[in-house]
Amino acid sequence: MTSTAPAPAPTKRDGELRVSIVGGGASGVLTAANLLADPETRLRVTIHESAPVLGAGVAYGTTDPRHLLNVRARHMSAFPDTPSDLIDWYHATGRTIDPLAFLPRREYAEYLRDRLSDVADGRLQVHSGRVDDVVPTDAGYQVLSEGAEPTEADAVVLAYGNSAPAPLAVDGDALPGAAWHVADPWDLAWIDRLPQDGVVVLVGSGLTAVDTAITVLEDSPARRVVMVSRHGLLPAAHVEQQSTAWVSPVPDGPLTADQLATFFDGQVAAARRQGVDWRAVVDGLRAPTQSIWQRLDADERRRFLSRYARHWEVRRHRMAPEVAARLQQYRRDGRLRLVAGGLTGLTERDGRCQVRLGDEAEHLPVDAVVNCTGPQTDVGRSQNPLLQSLRERGLVAPDALRLGVSCRSTGEILDPSGAVVPQMYAVGPPRKGTLYESTAIPEIRAQAAAVARALTTAGSTQIR
Ligand SMILES: Cc1cc2nc3c(=O)[nH]c(=O)nc-3n(C[C@H](O)[C@H](O)[C@H](O)COP(=O)(O)OP(=O)(O)OC[C@H]3O[C@@H](n4cnc5c(N)ncnc54)[C@H](O)[C@@H]3O)c2cc1C
Repeated sequence: MTSTAPAPAPTKRDGELRVSIVGGGASGVLTAANLLADPETRLRVTIHESAPVLGAGVAYGTTDPRHLLNVRARHMSAFPDTPSDLIDWYHATGRTIDPLAFLPRREYAEYLRDRLSDVADGRLQVHSGRVDDVVPTDAGYQVLSEGAEPTEADAVVLAYGNSAPAPLAVDGDALPGAAWHVADPWDLAWIDRLPQDGVVVLVGSGLTAVDTAITVLEDSPARRVVMVSRHGLLPAAHVEQQSTAWVSPVPDGPLTADQLATFFDGQVAAARRQGVDWRAVVDGLRAPTQSIWQRLDADERRRFLSRYARHWEVRRHRMAPEVAARLQQYRRDGRLRLVAGGLTGLTERDGRCQVRLGDEAEHLPVDAVVNCTGPQTDVGRSQNPLLQSLRERGLVAPDALRLGVSCRSTGEILDPSGAVVPQMYAVGPPRKGTLYESTAIPEIRAQAAAVARALTTAGSTQIR
């Protein structure tokens, strides 16, 4: 495929705006819900989703009810201007809910679908199937899905979300495709094949590894899990009673990663002196994170990622207290072990696998090695055919840190030369390189509302 320059700008036909949203996870569904919120707005919205259901994605597609949200219910509204919306939805379905509770994640998918169906009318279409390409045309874009007619669009929202993890490797050699090698941690079907006394190695020790450990260990008391990651750090736990809010006076102007770390440590110490828990400092820094990130230059962002990010992430993305209690019990029972240093050796004999963990001397025989390293963010290496096509067309490029796509903070996609690609936006995880904090619902809901506003305001009658 060759690179295609954007065509000149036509105007909206009959005042009707055609928006194609690629991806029907939380980001895509919330963008659609915002676009359709006003029944008077003349538009046609198409959600393209390769999975069988909307609203799920990897986060809310889990079938295990023990996989909980890691954010309290009161902060998980789908709409920034209606903070109680999730609580209201629960009440409307005849259930009571503690606003401080951590709900099963699969219920959140149900909530998102319900909120979309509240506003869905003849203006919404859902196309099942994977989008493999988006082609600029004189009139806008053609969205190409497998086995379907092209969809004509004036604007495209990329909401493709979290990609599969990068393949596991030991000493540069990719792990073989074998029954014991679980490349997709979010498809839990492999656990049904696991022996009742199976031993599982989870590569990674973040929230996905935590979920997987719970599903593996909870129902079969003879199973054991070893989590191995570079740092060997588990996410911190939320506490039952969150203490007072703490607002940190973030210094003005450009910042270095070291200054930021010193500032954070100082705030934690100051909070402690006043009897305030460090969690309040982390939560207070949530709102200014995006602006702080934009004040670090590229080298300082790199330094933050290599030196401080993991320590920040385990404090920022915390586990529900009940989840933390389960893990603590598994560790006390000797069923869960945590090892720092990563996967350092692997041999396979008679279809069984033995691994070496960190600097441990012994190889450990295991029944499964599961890739819980988190979503692959490098658009340059993504296996998503859509991203490969867009890259080859010169429509998208990775951001400098390879955390997502190159885009403005408001989501407009930038091509490899840094020019805005007309009427093409990113919502959610693809904005991570630009904003750093861009993967959780409080950010996604704000982005979805803002992109919908940008597309439907009077100024956007000029389409391309
Ligand atoms: C395990 C986990 C737990 C989380 N828990 C929380 C939480 O408790 N609270 C919180 O605020 N945040 C949480 N998050 C973060 C955040 O809410 C999710 O990452 C969020 O679901 C992102 O939504 P998304 O729609 O952008 O991406 P995804 O959920 O990844 O959905 C993207 C969708 O796009 C589809 N898609 C991709 N490419 C194509 C294509 N080419 N054609 C058609 N369809 C395509 C996929 O099938 C998928 O359904 C969690 C994240 C994870 C991974």
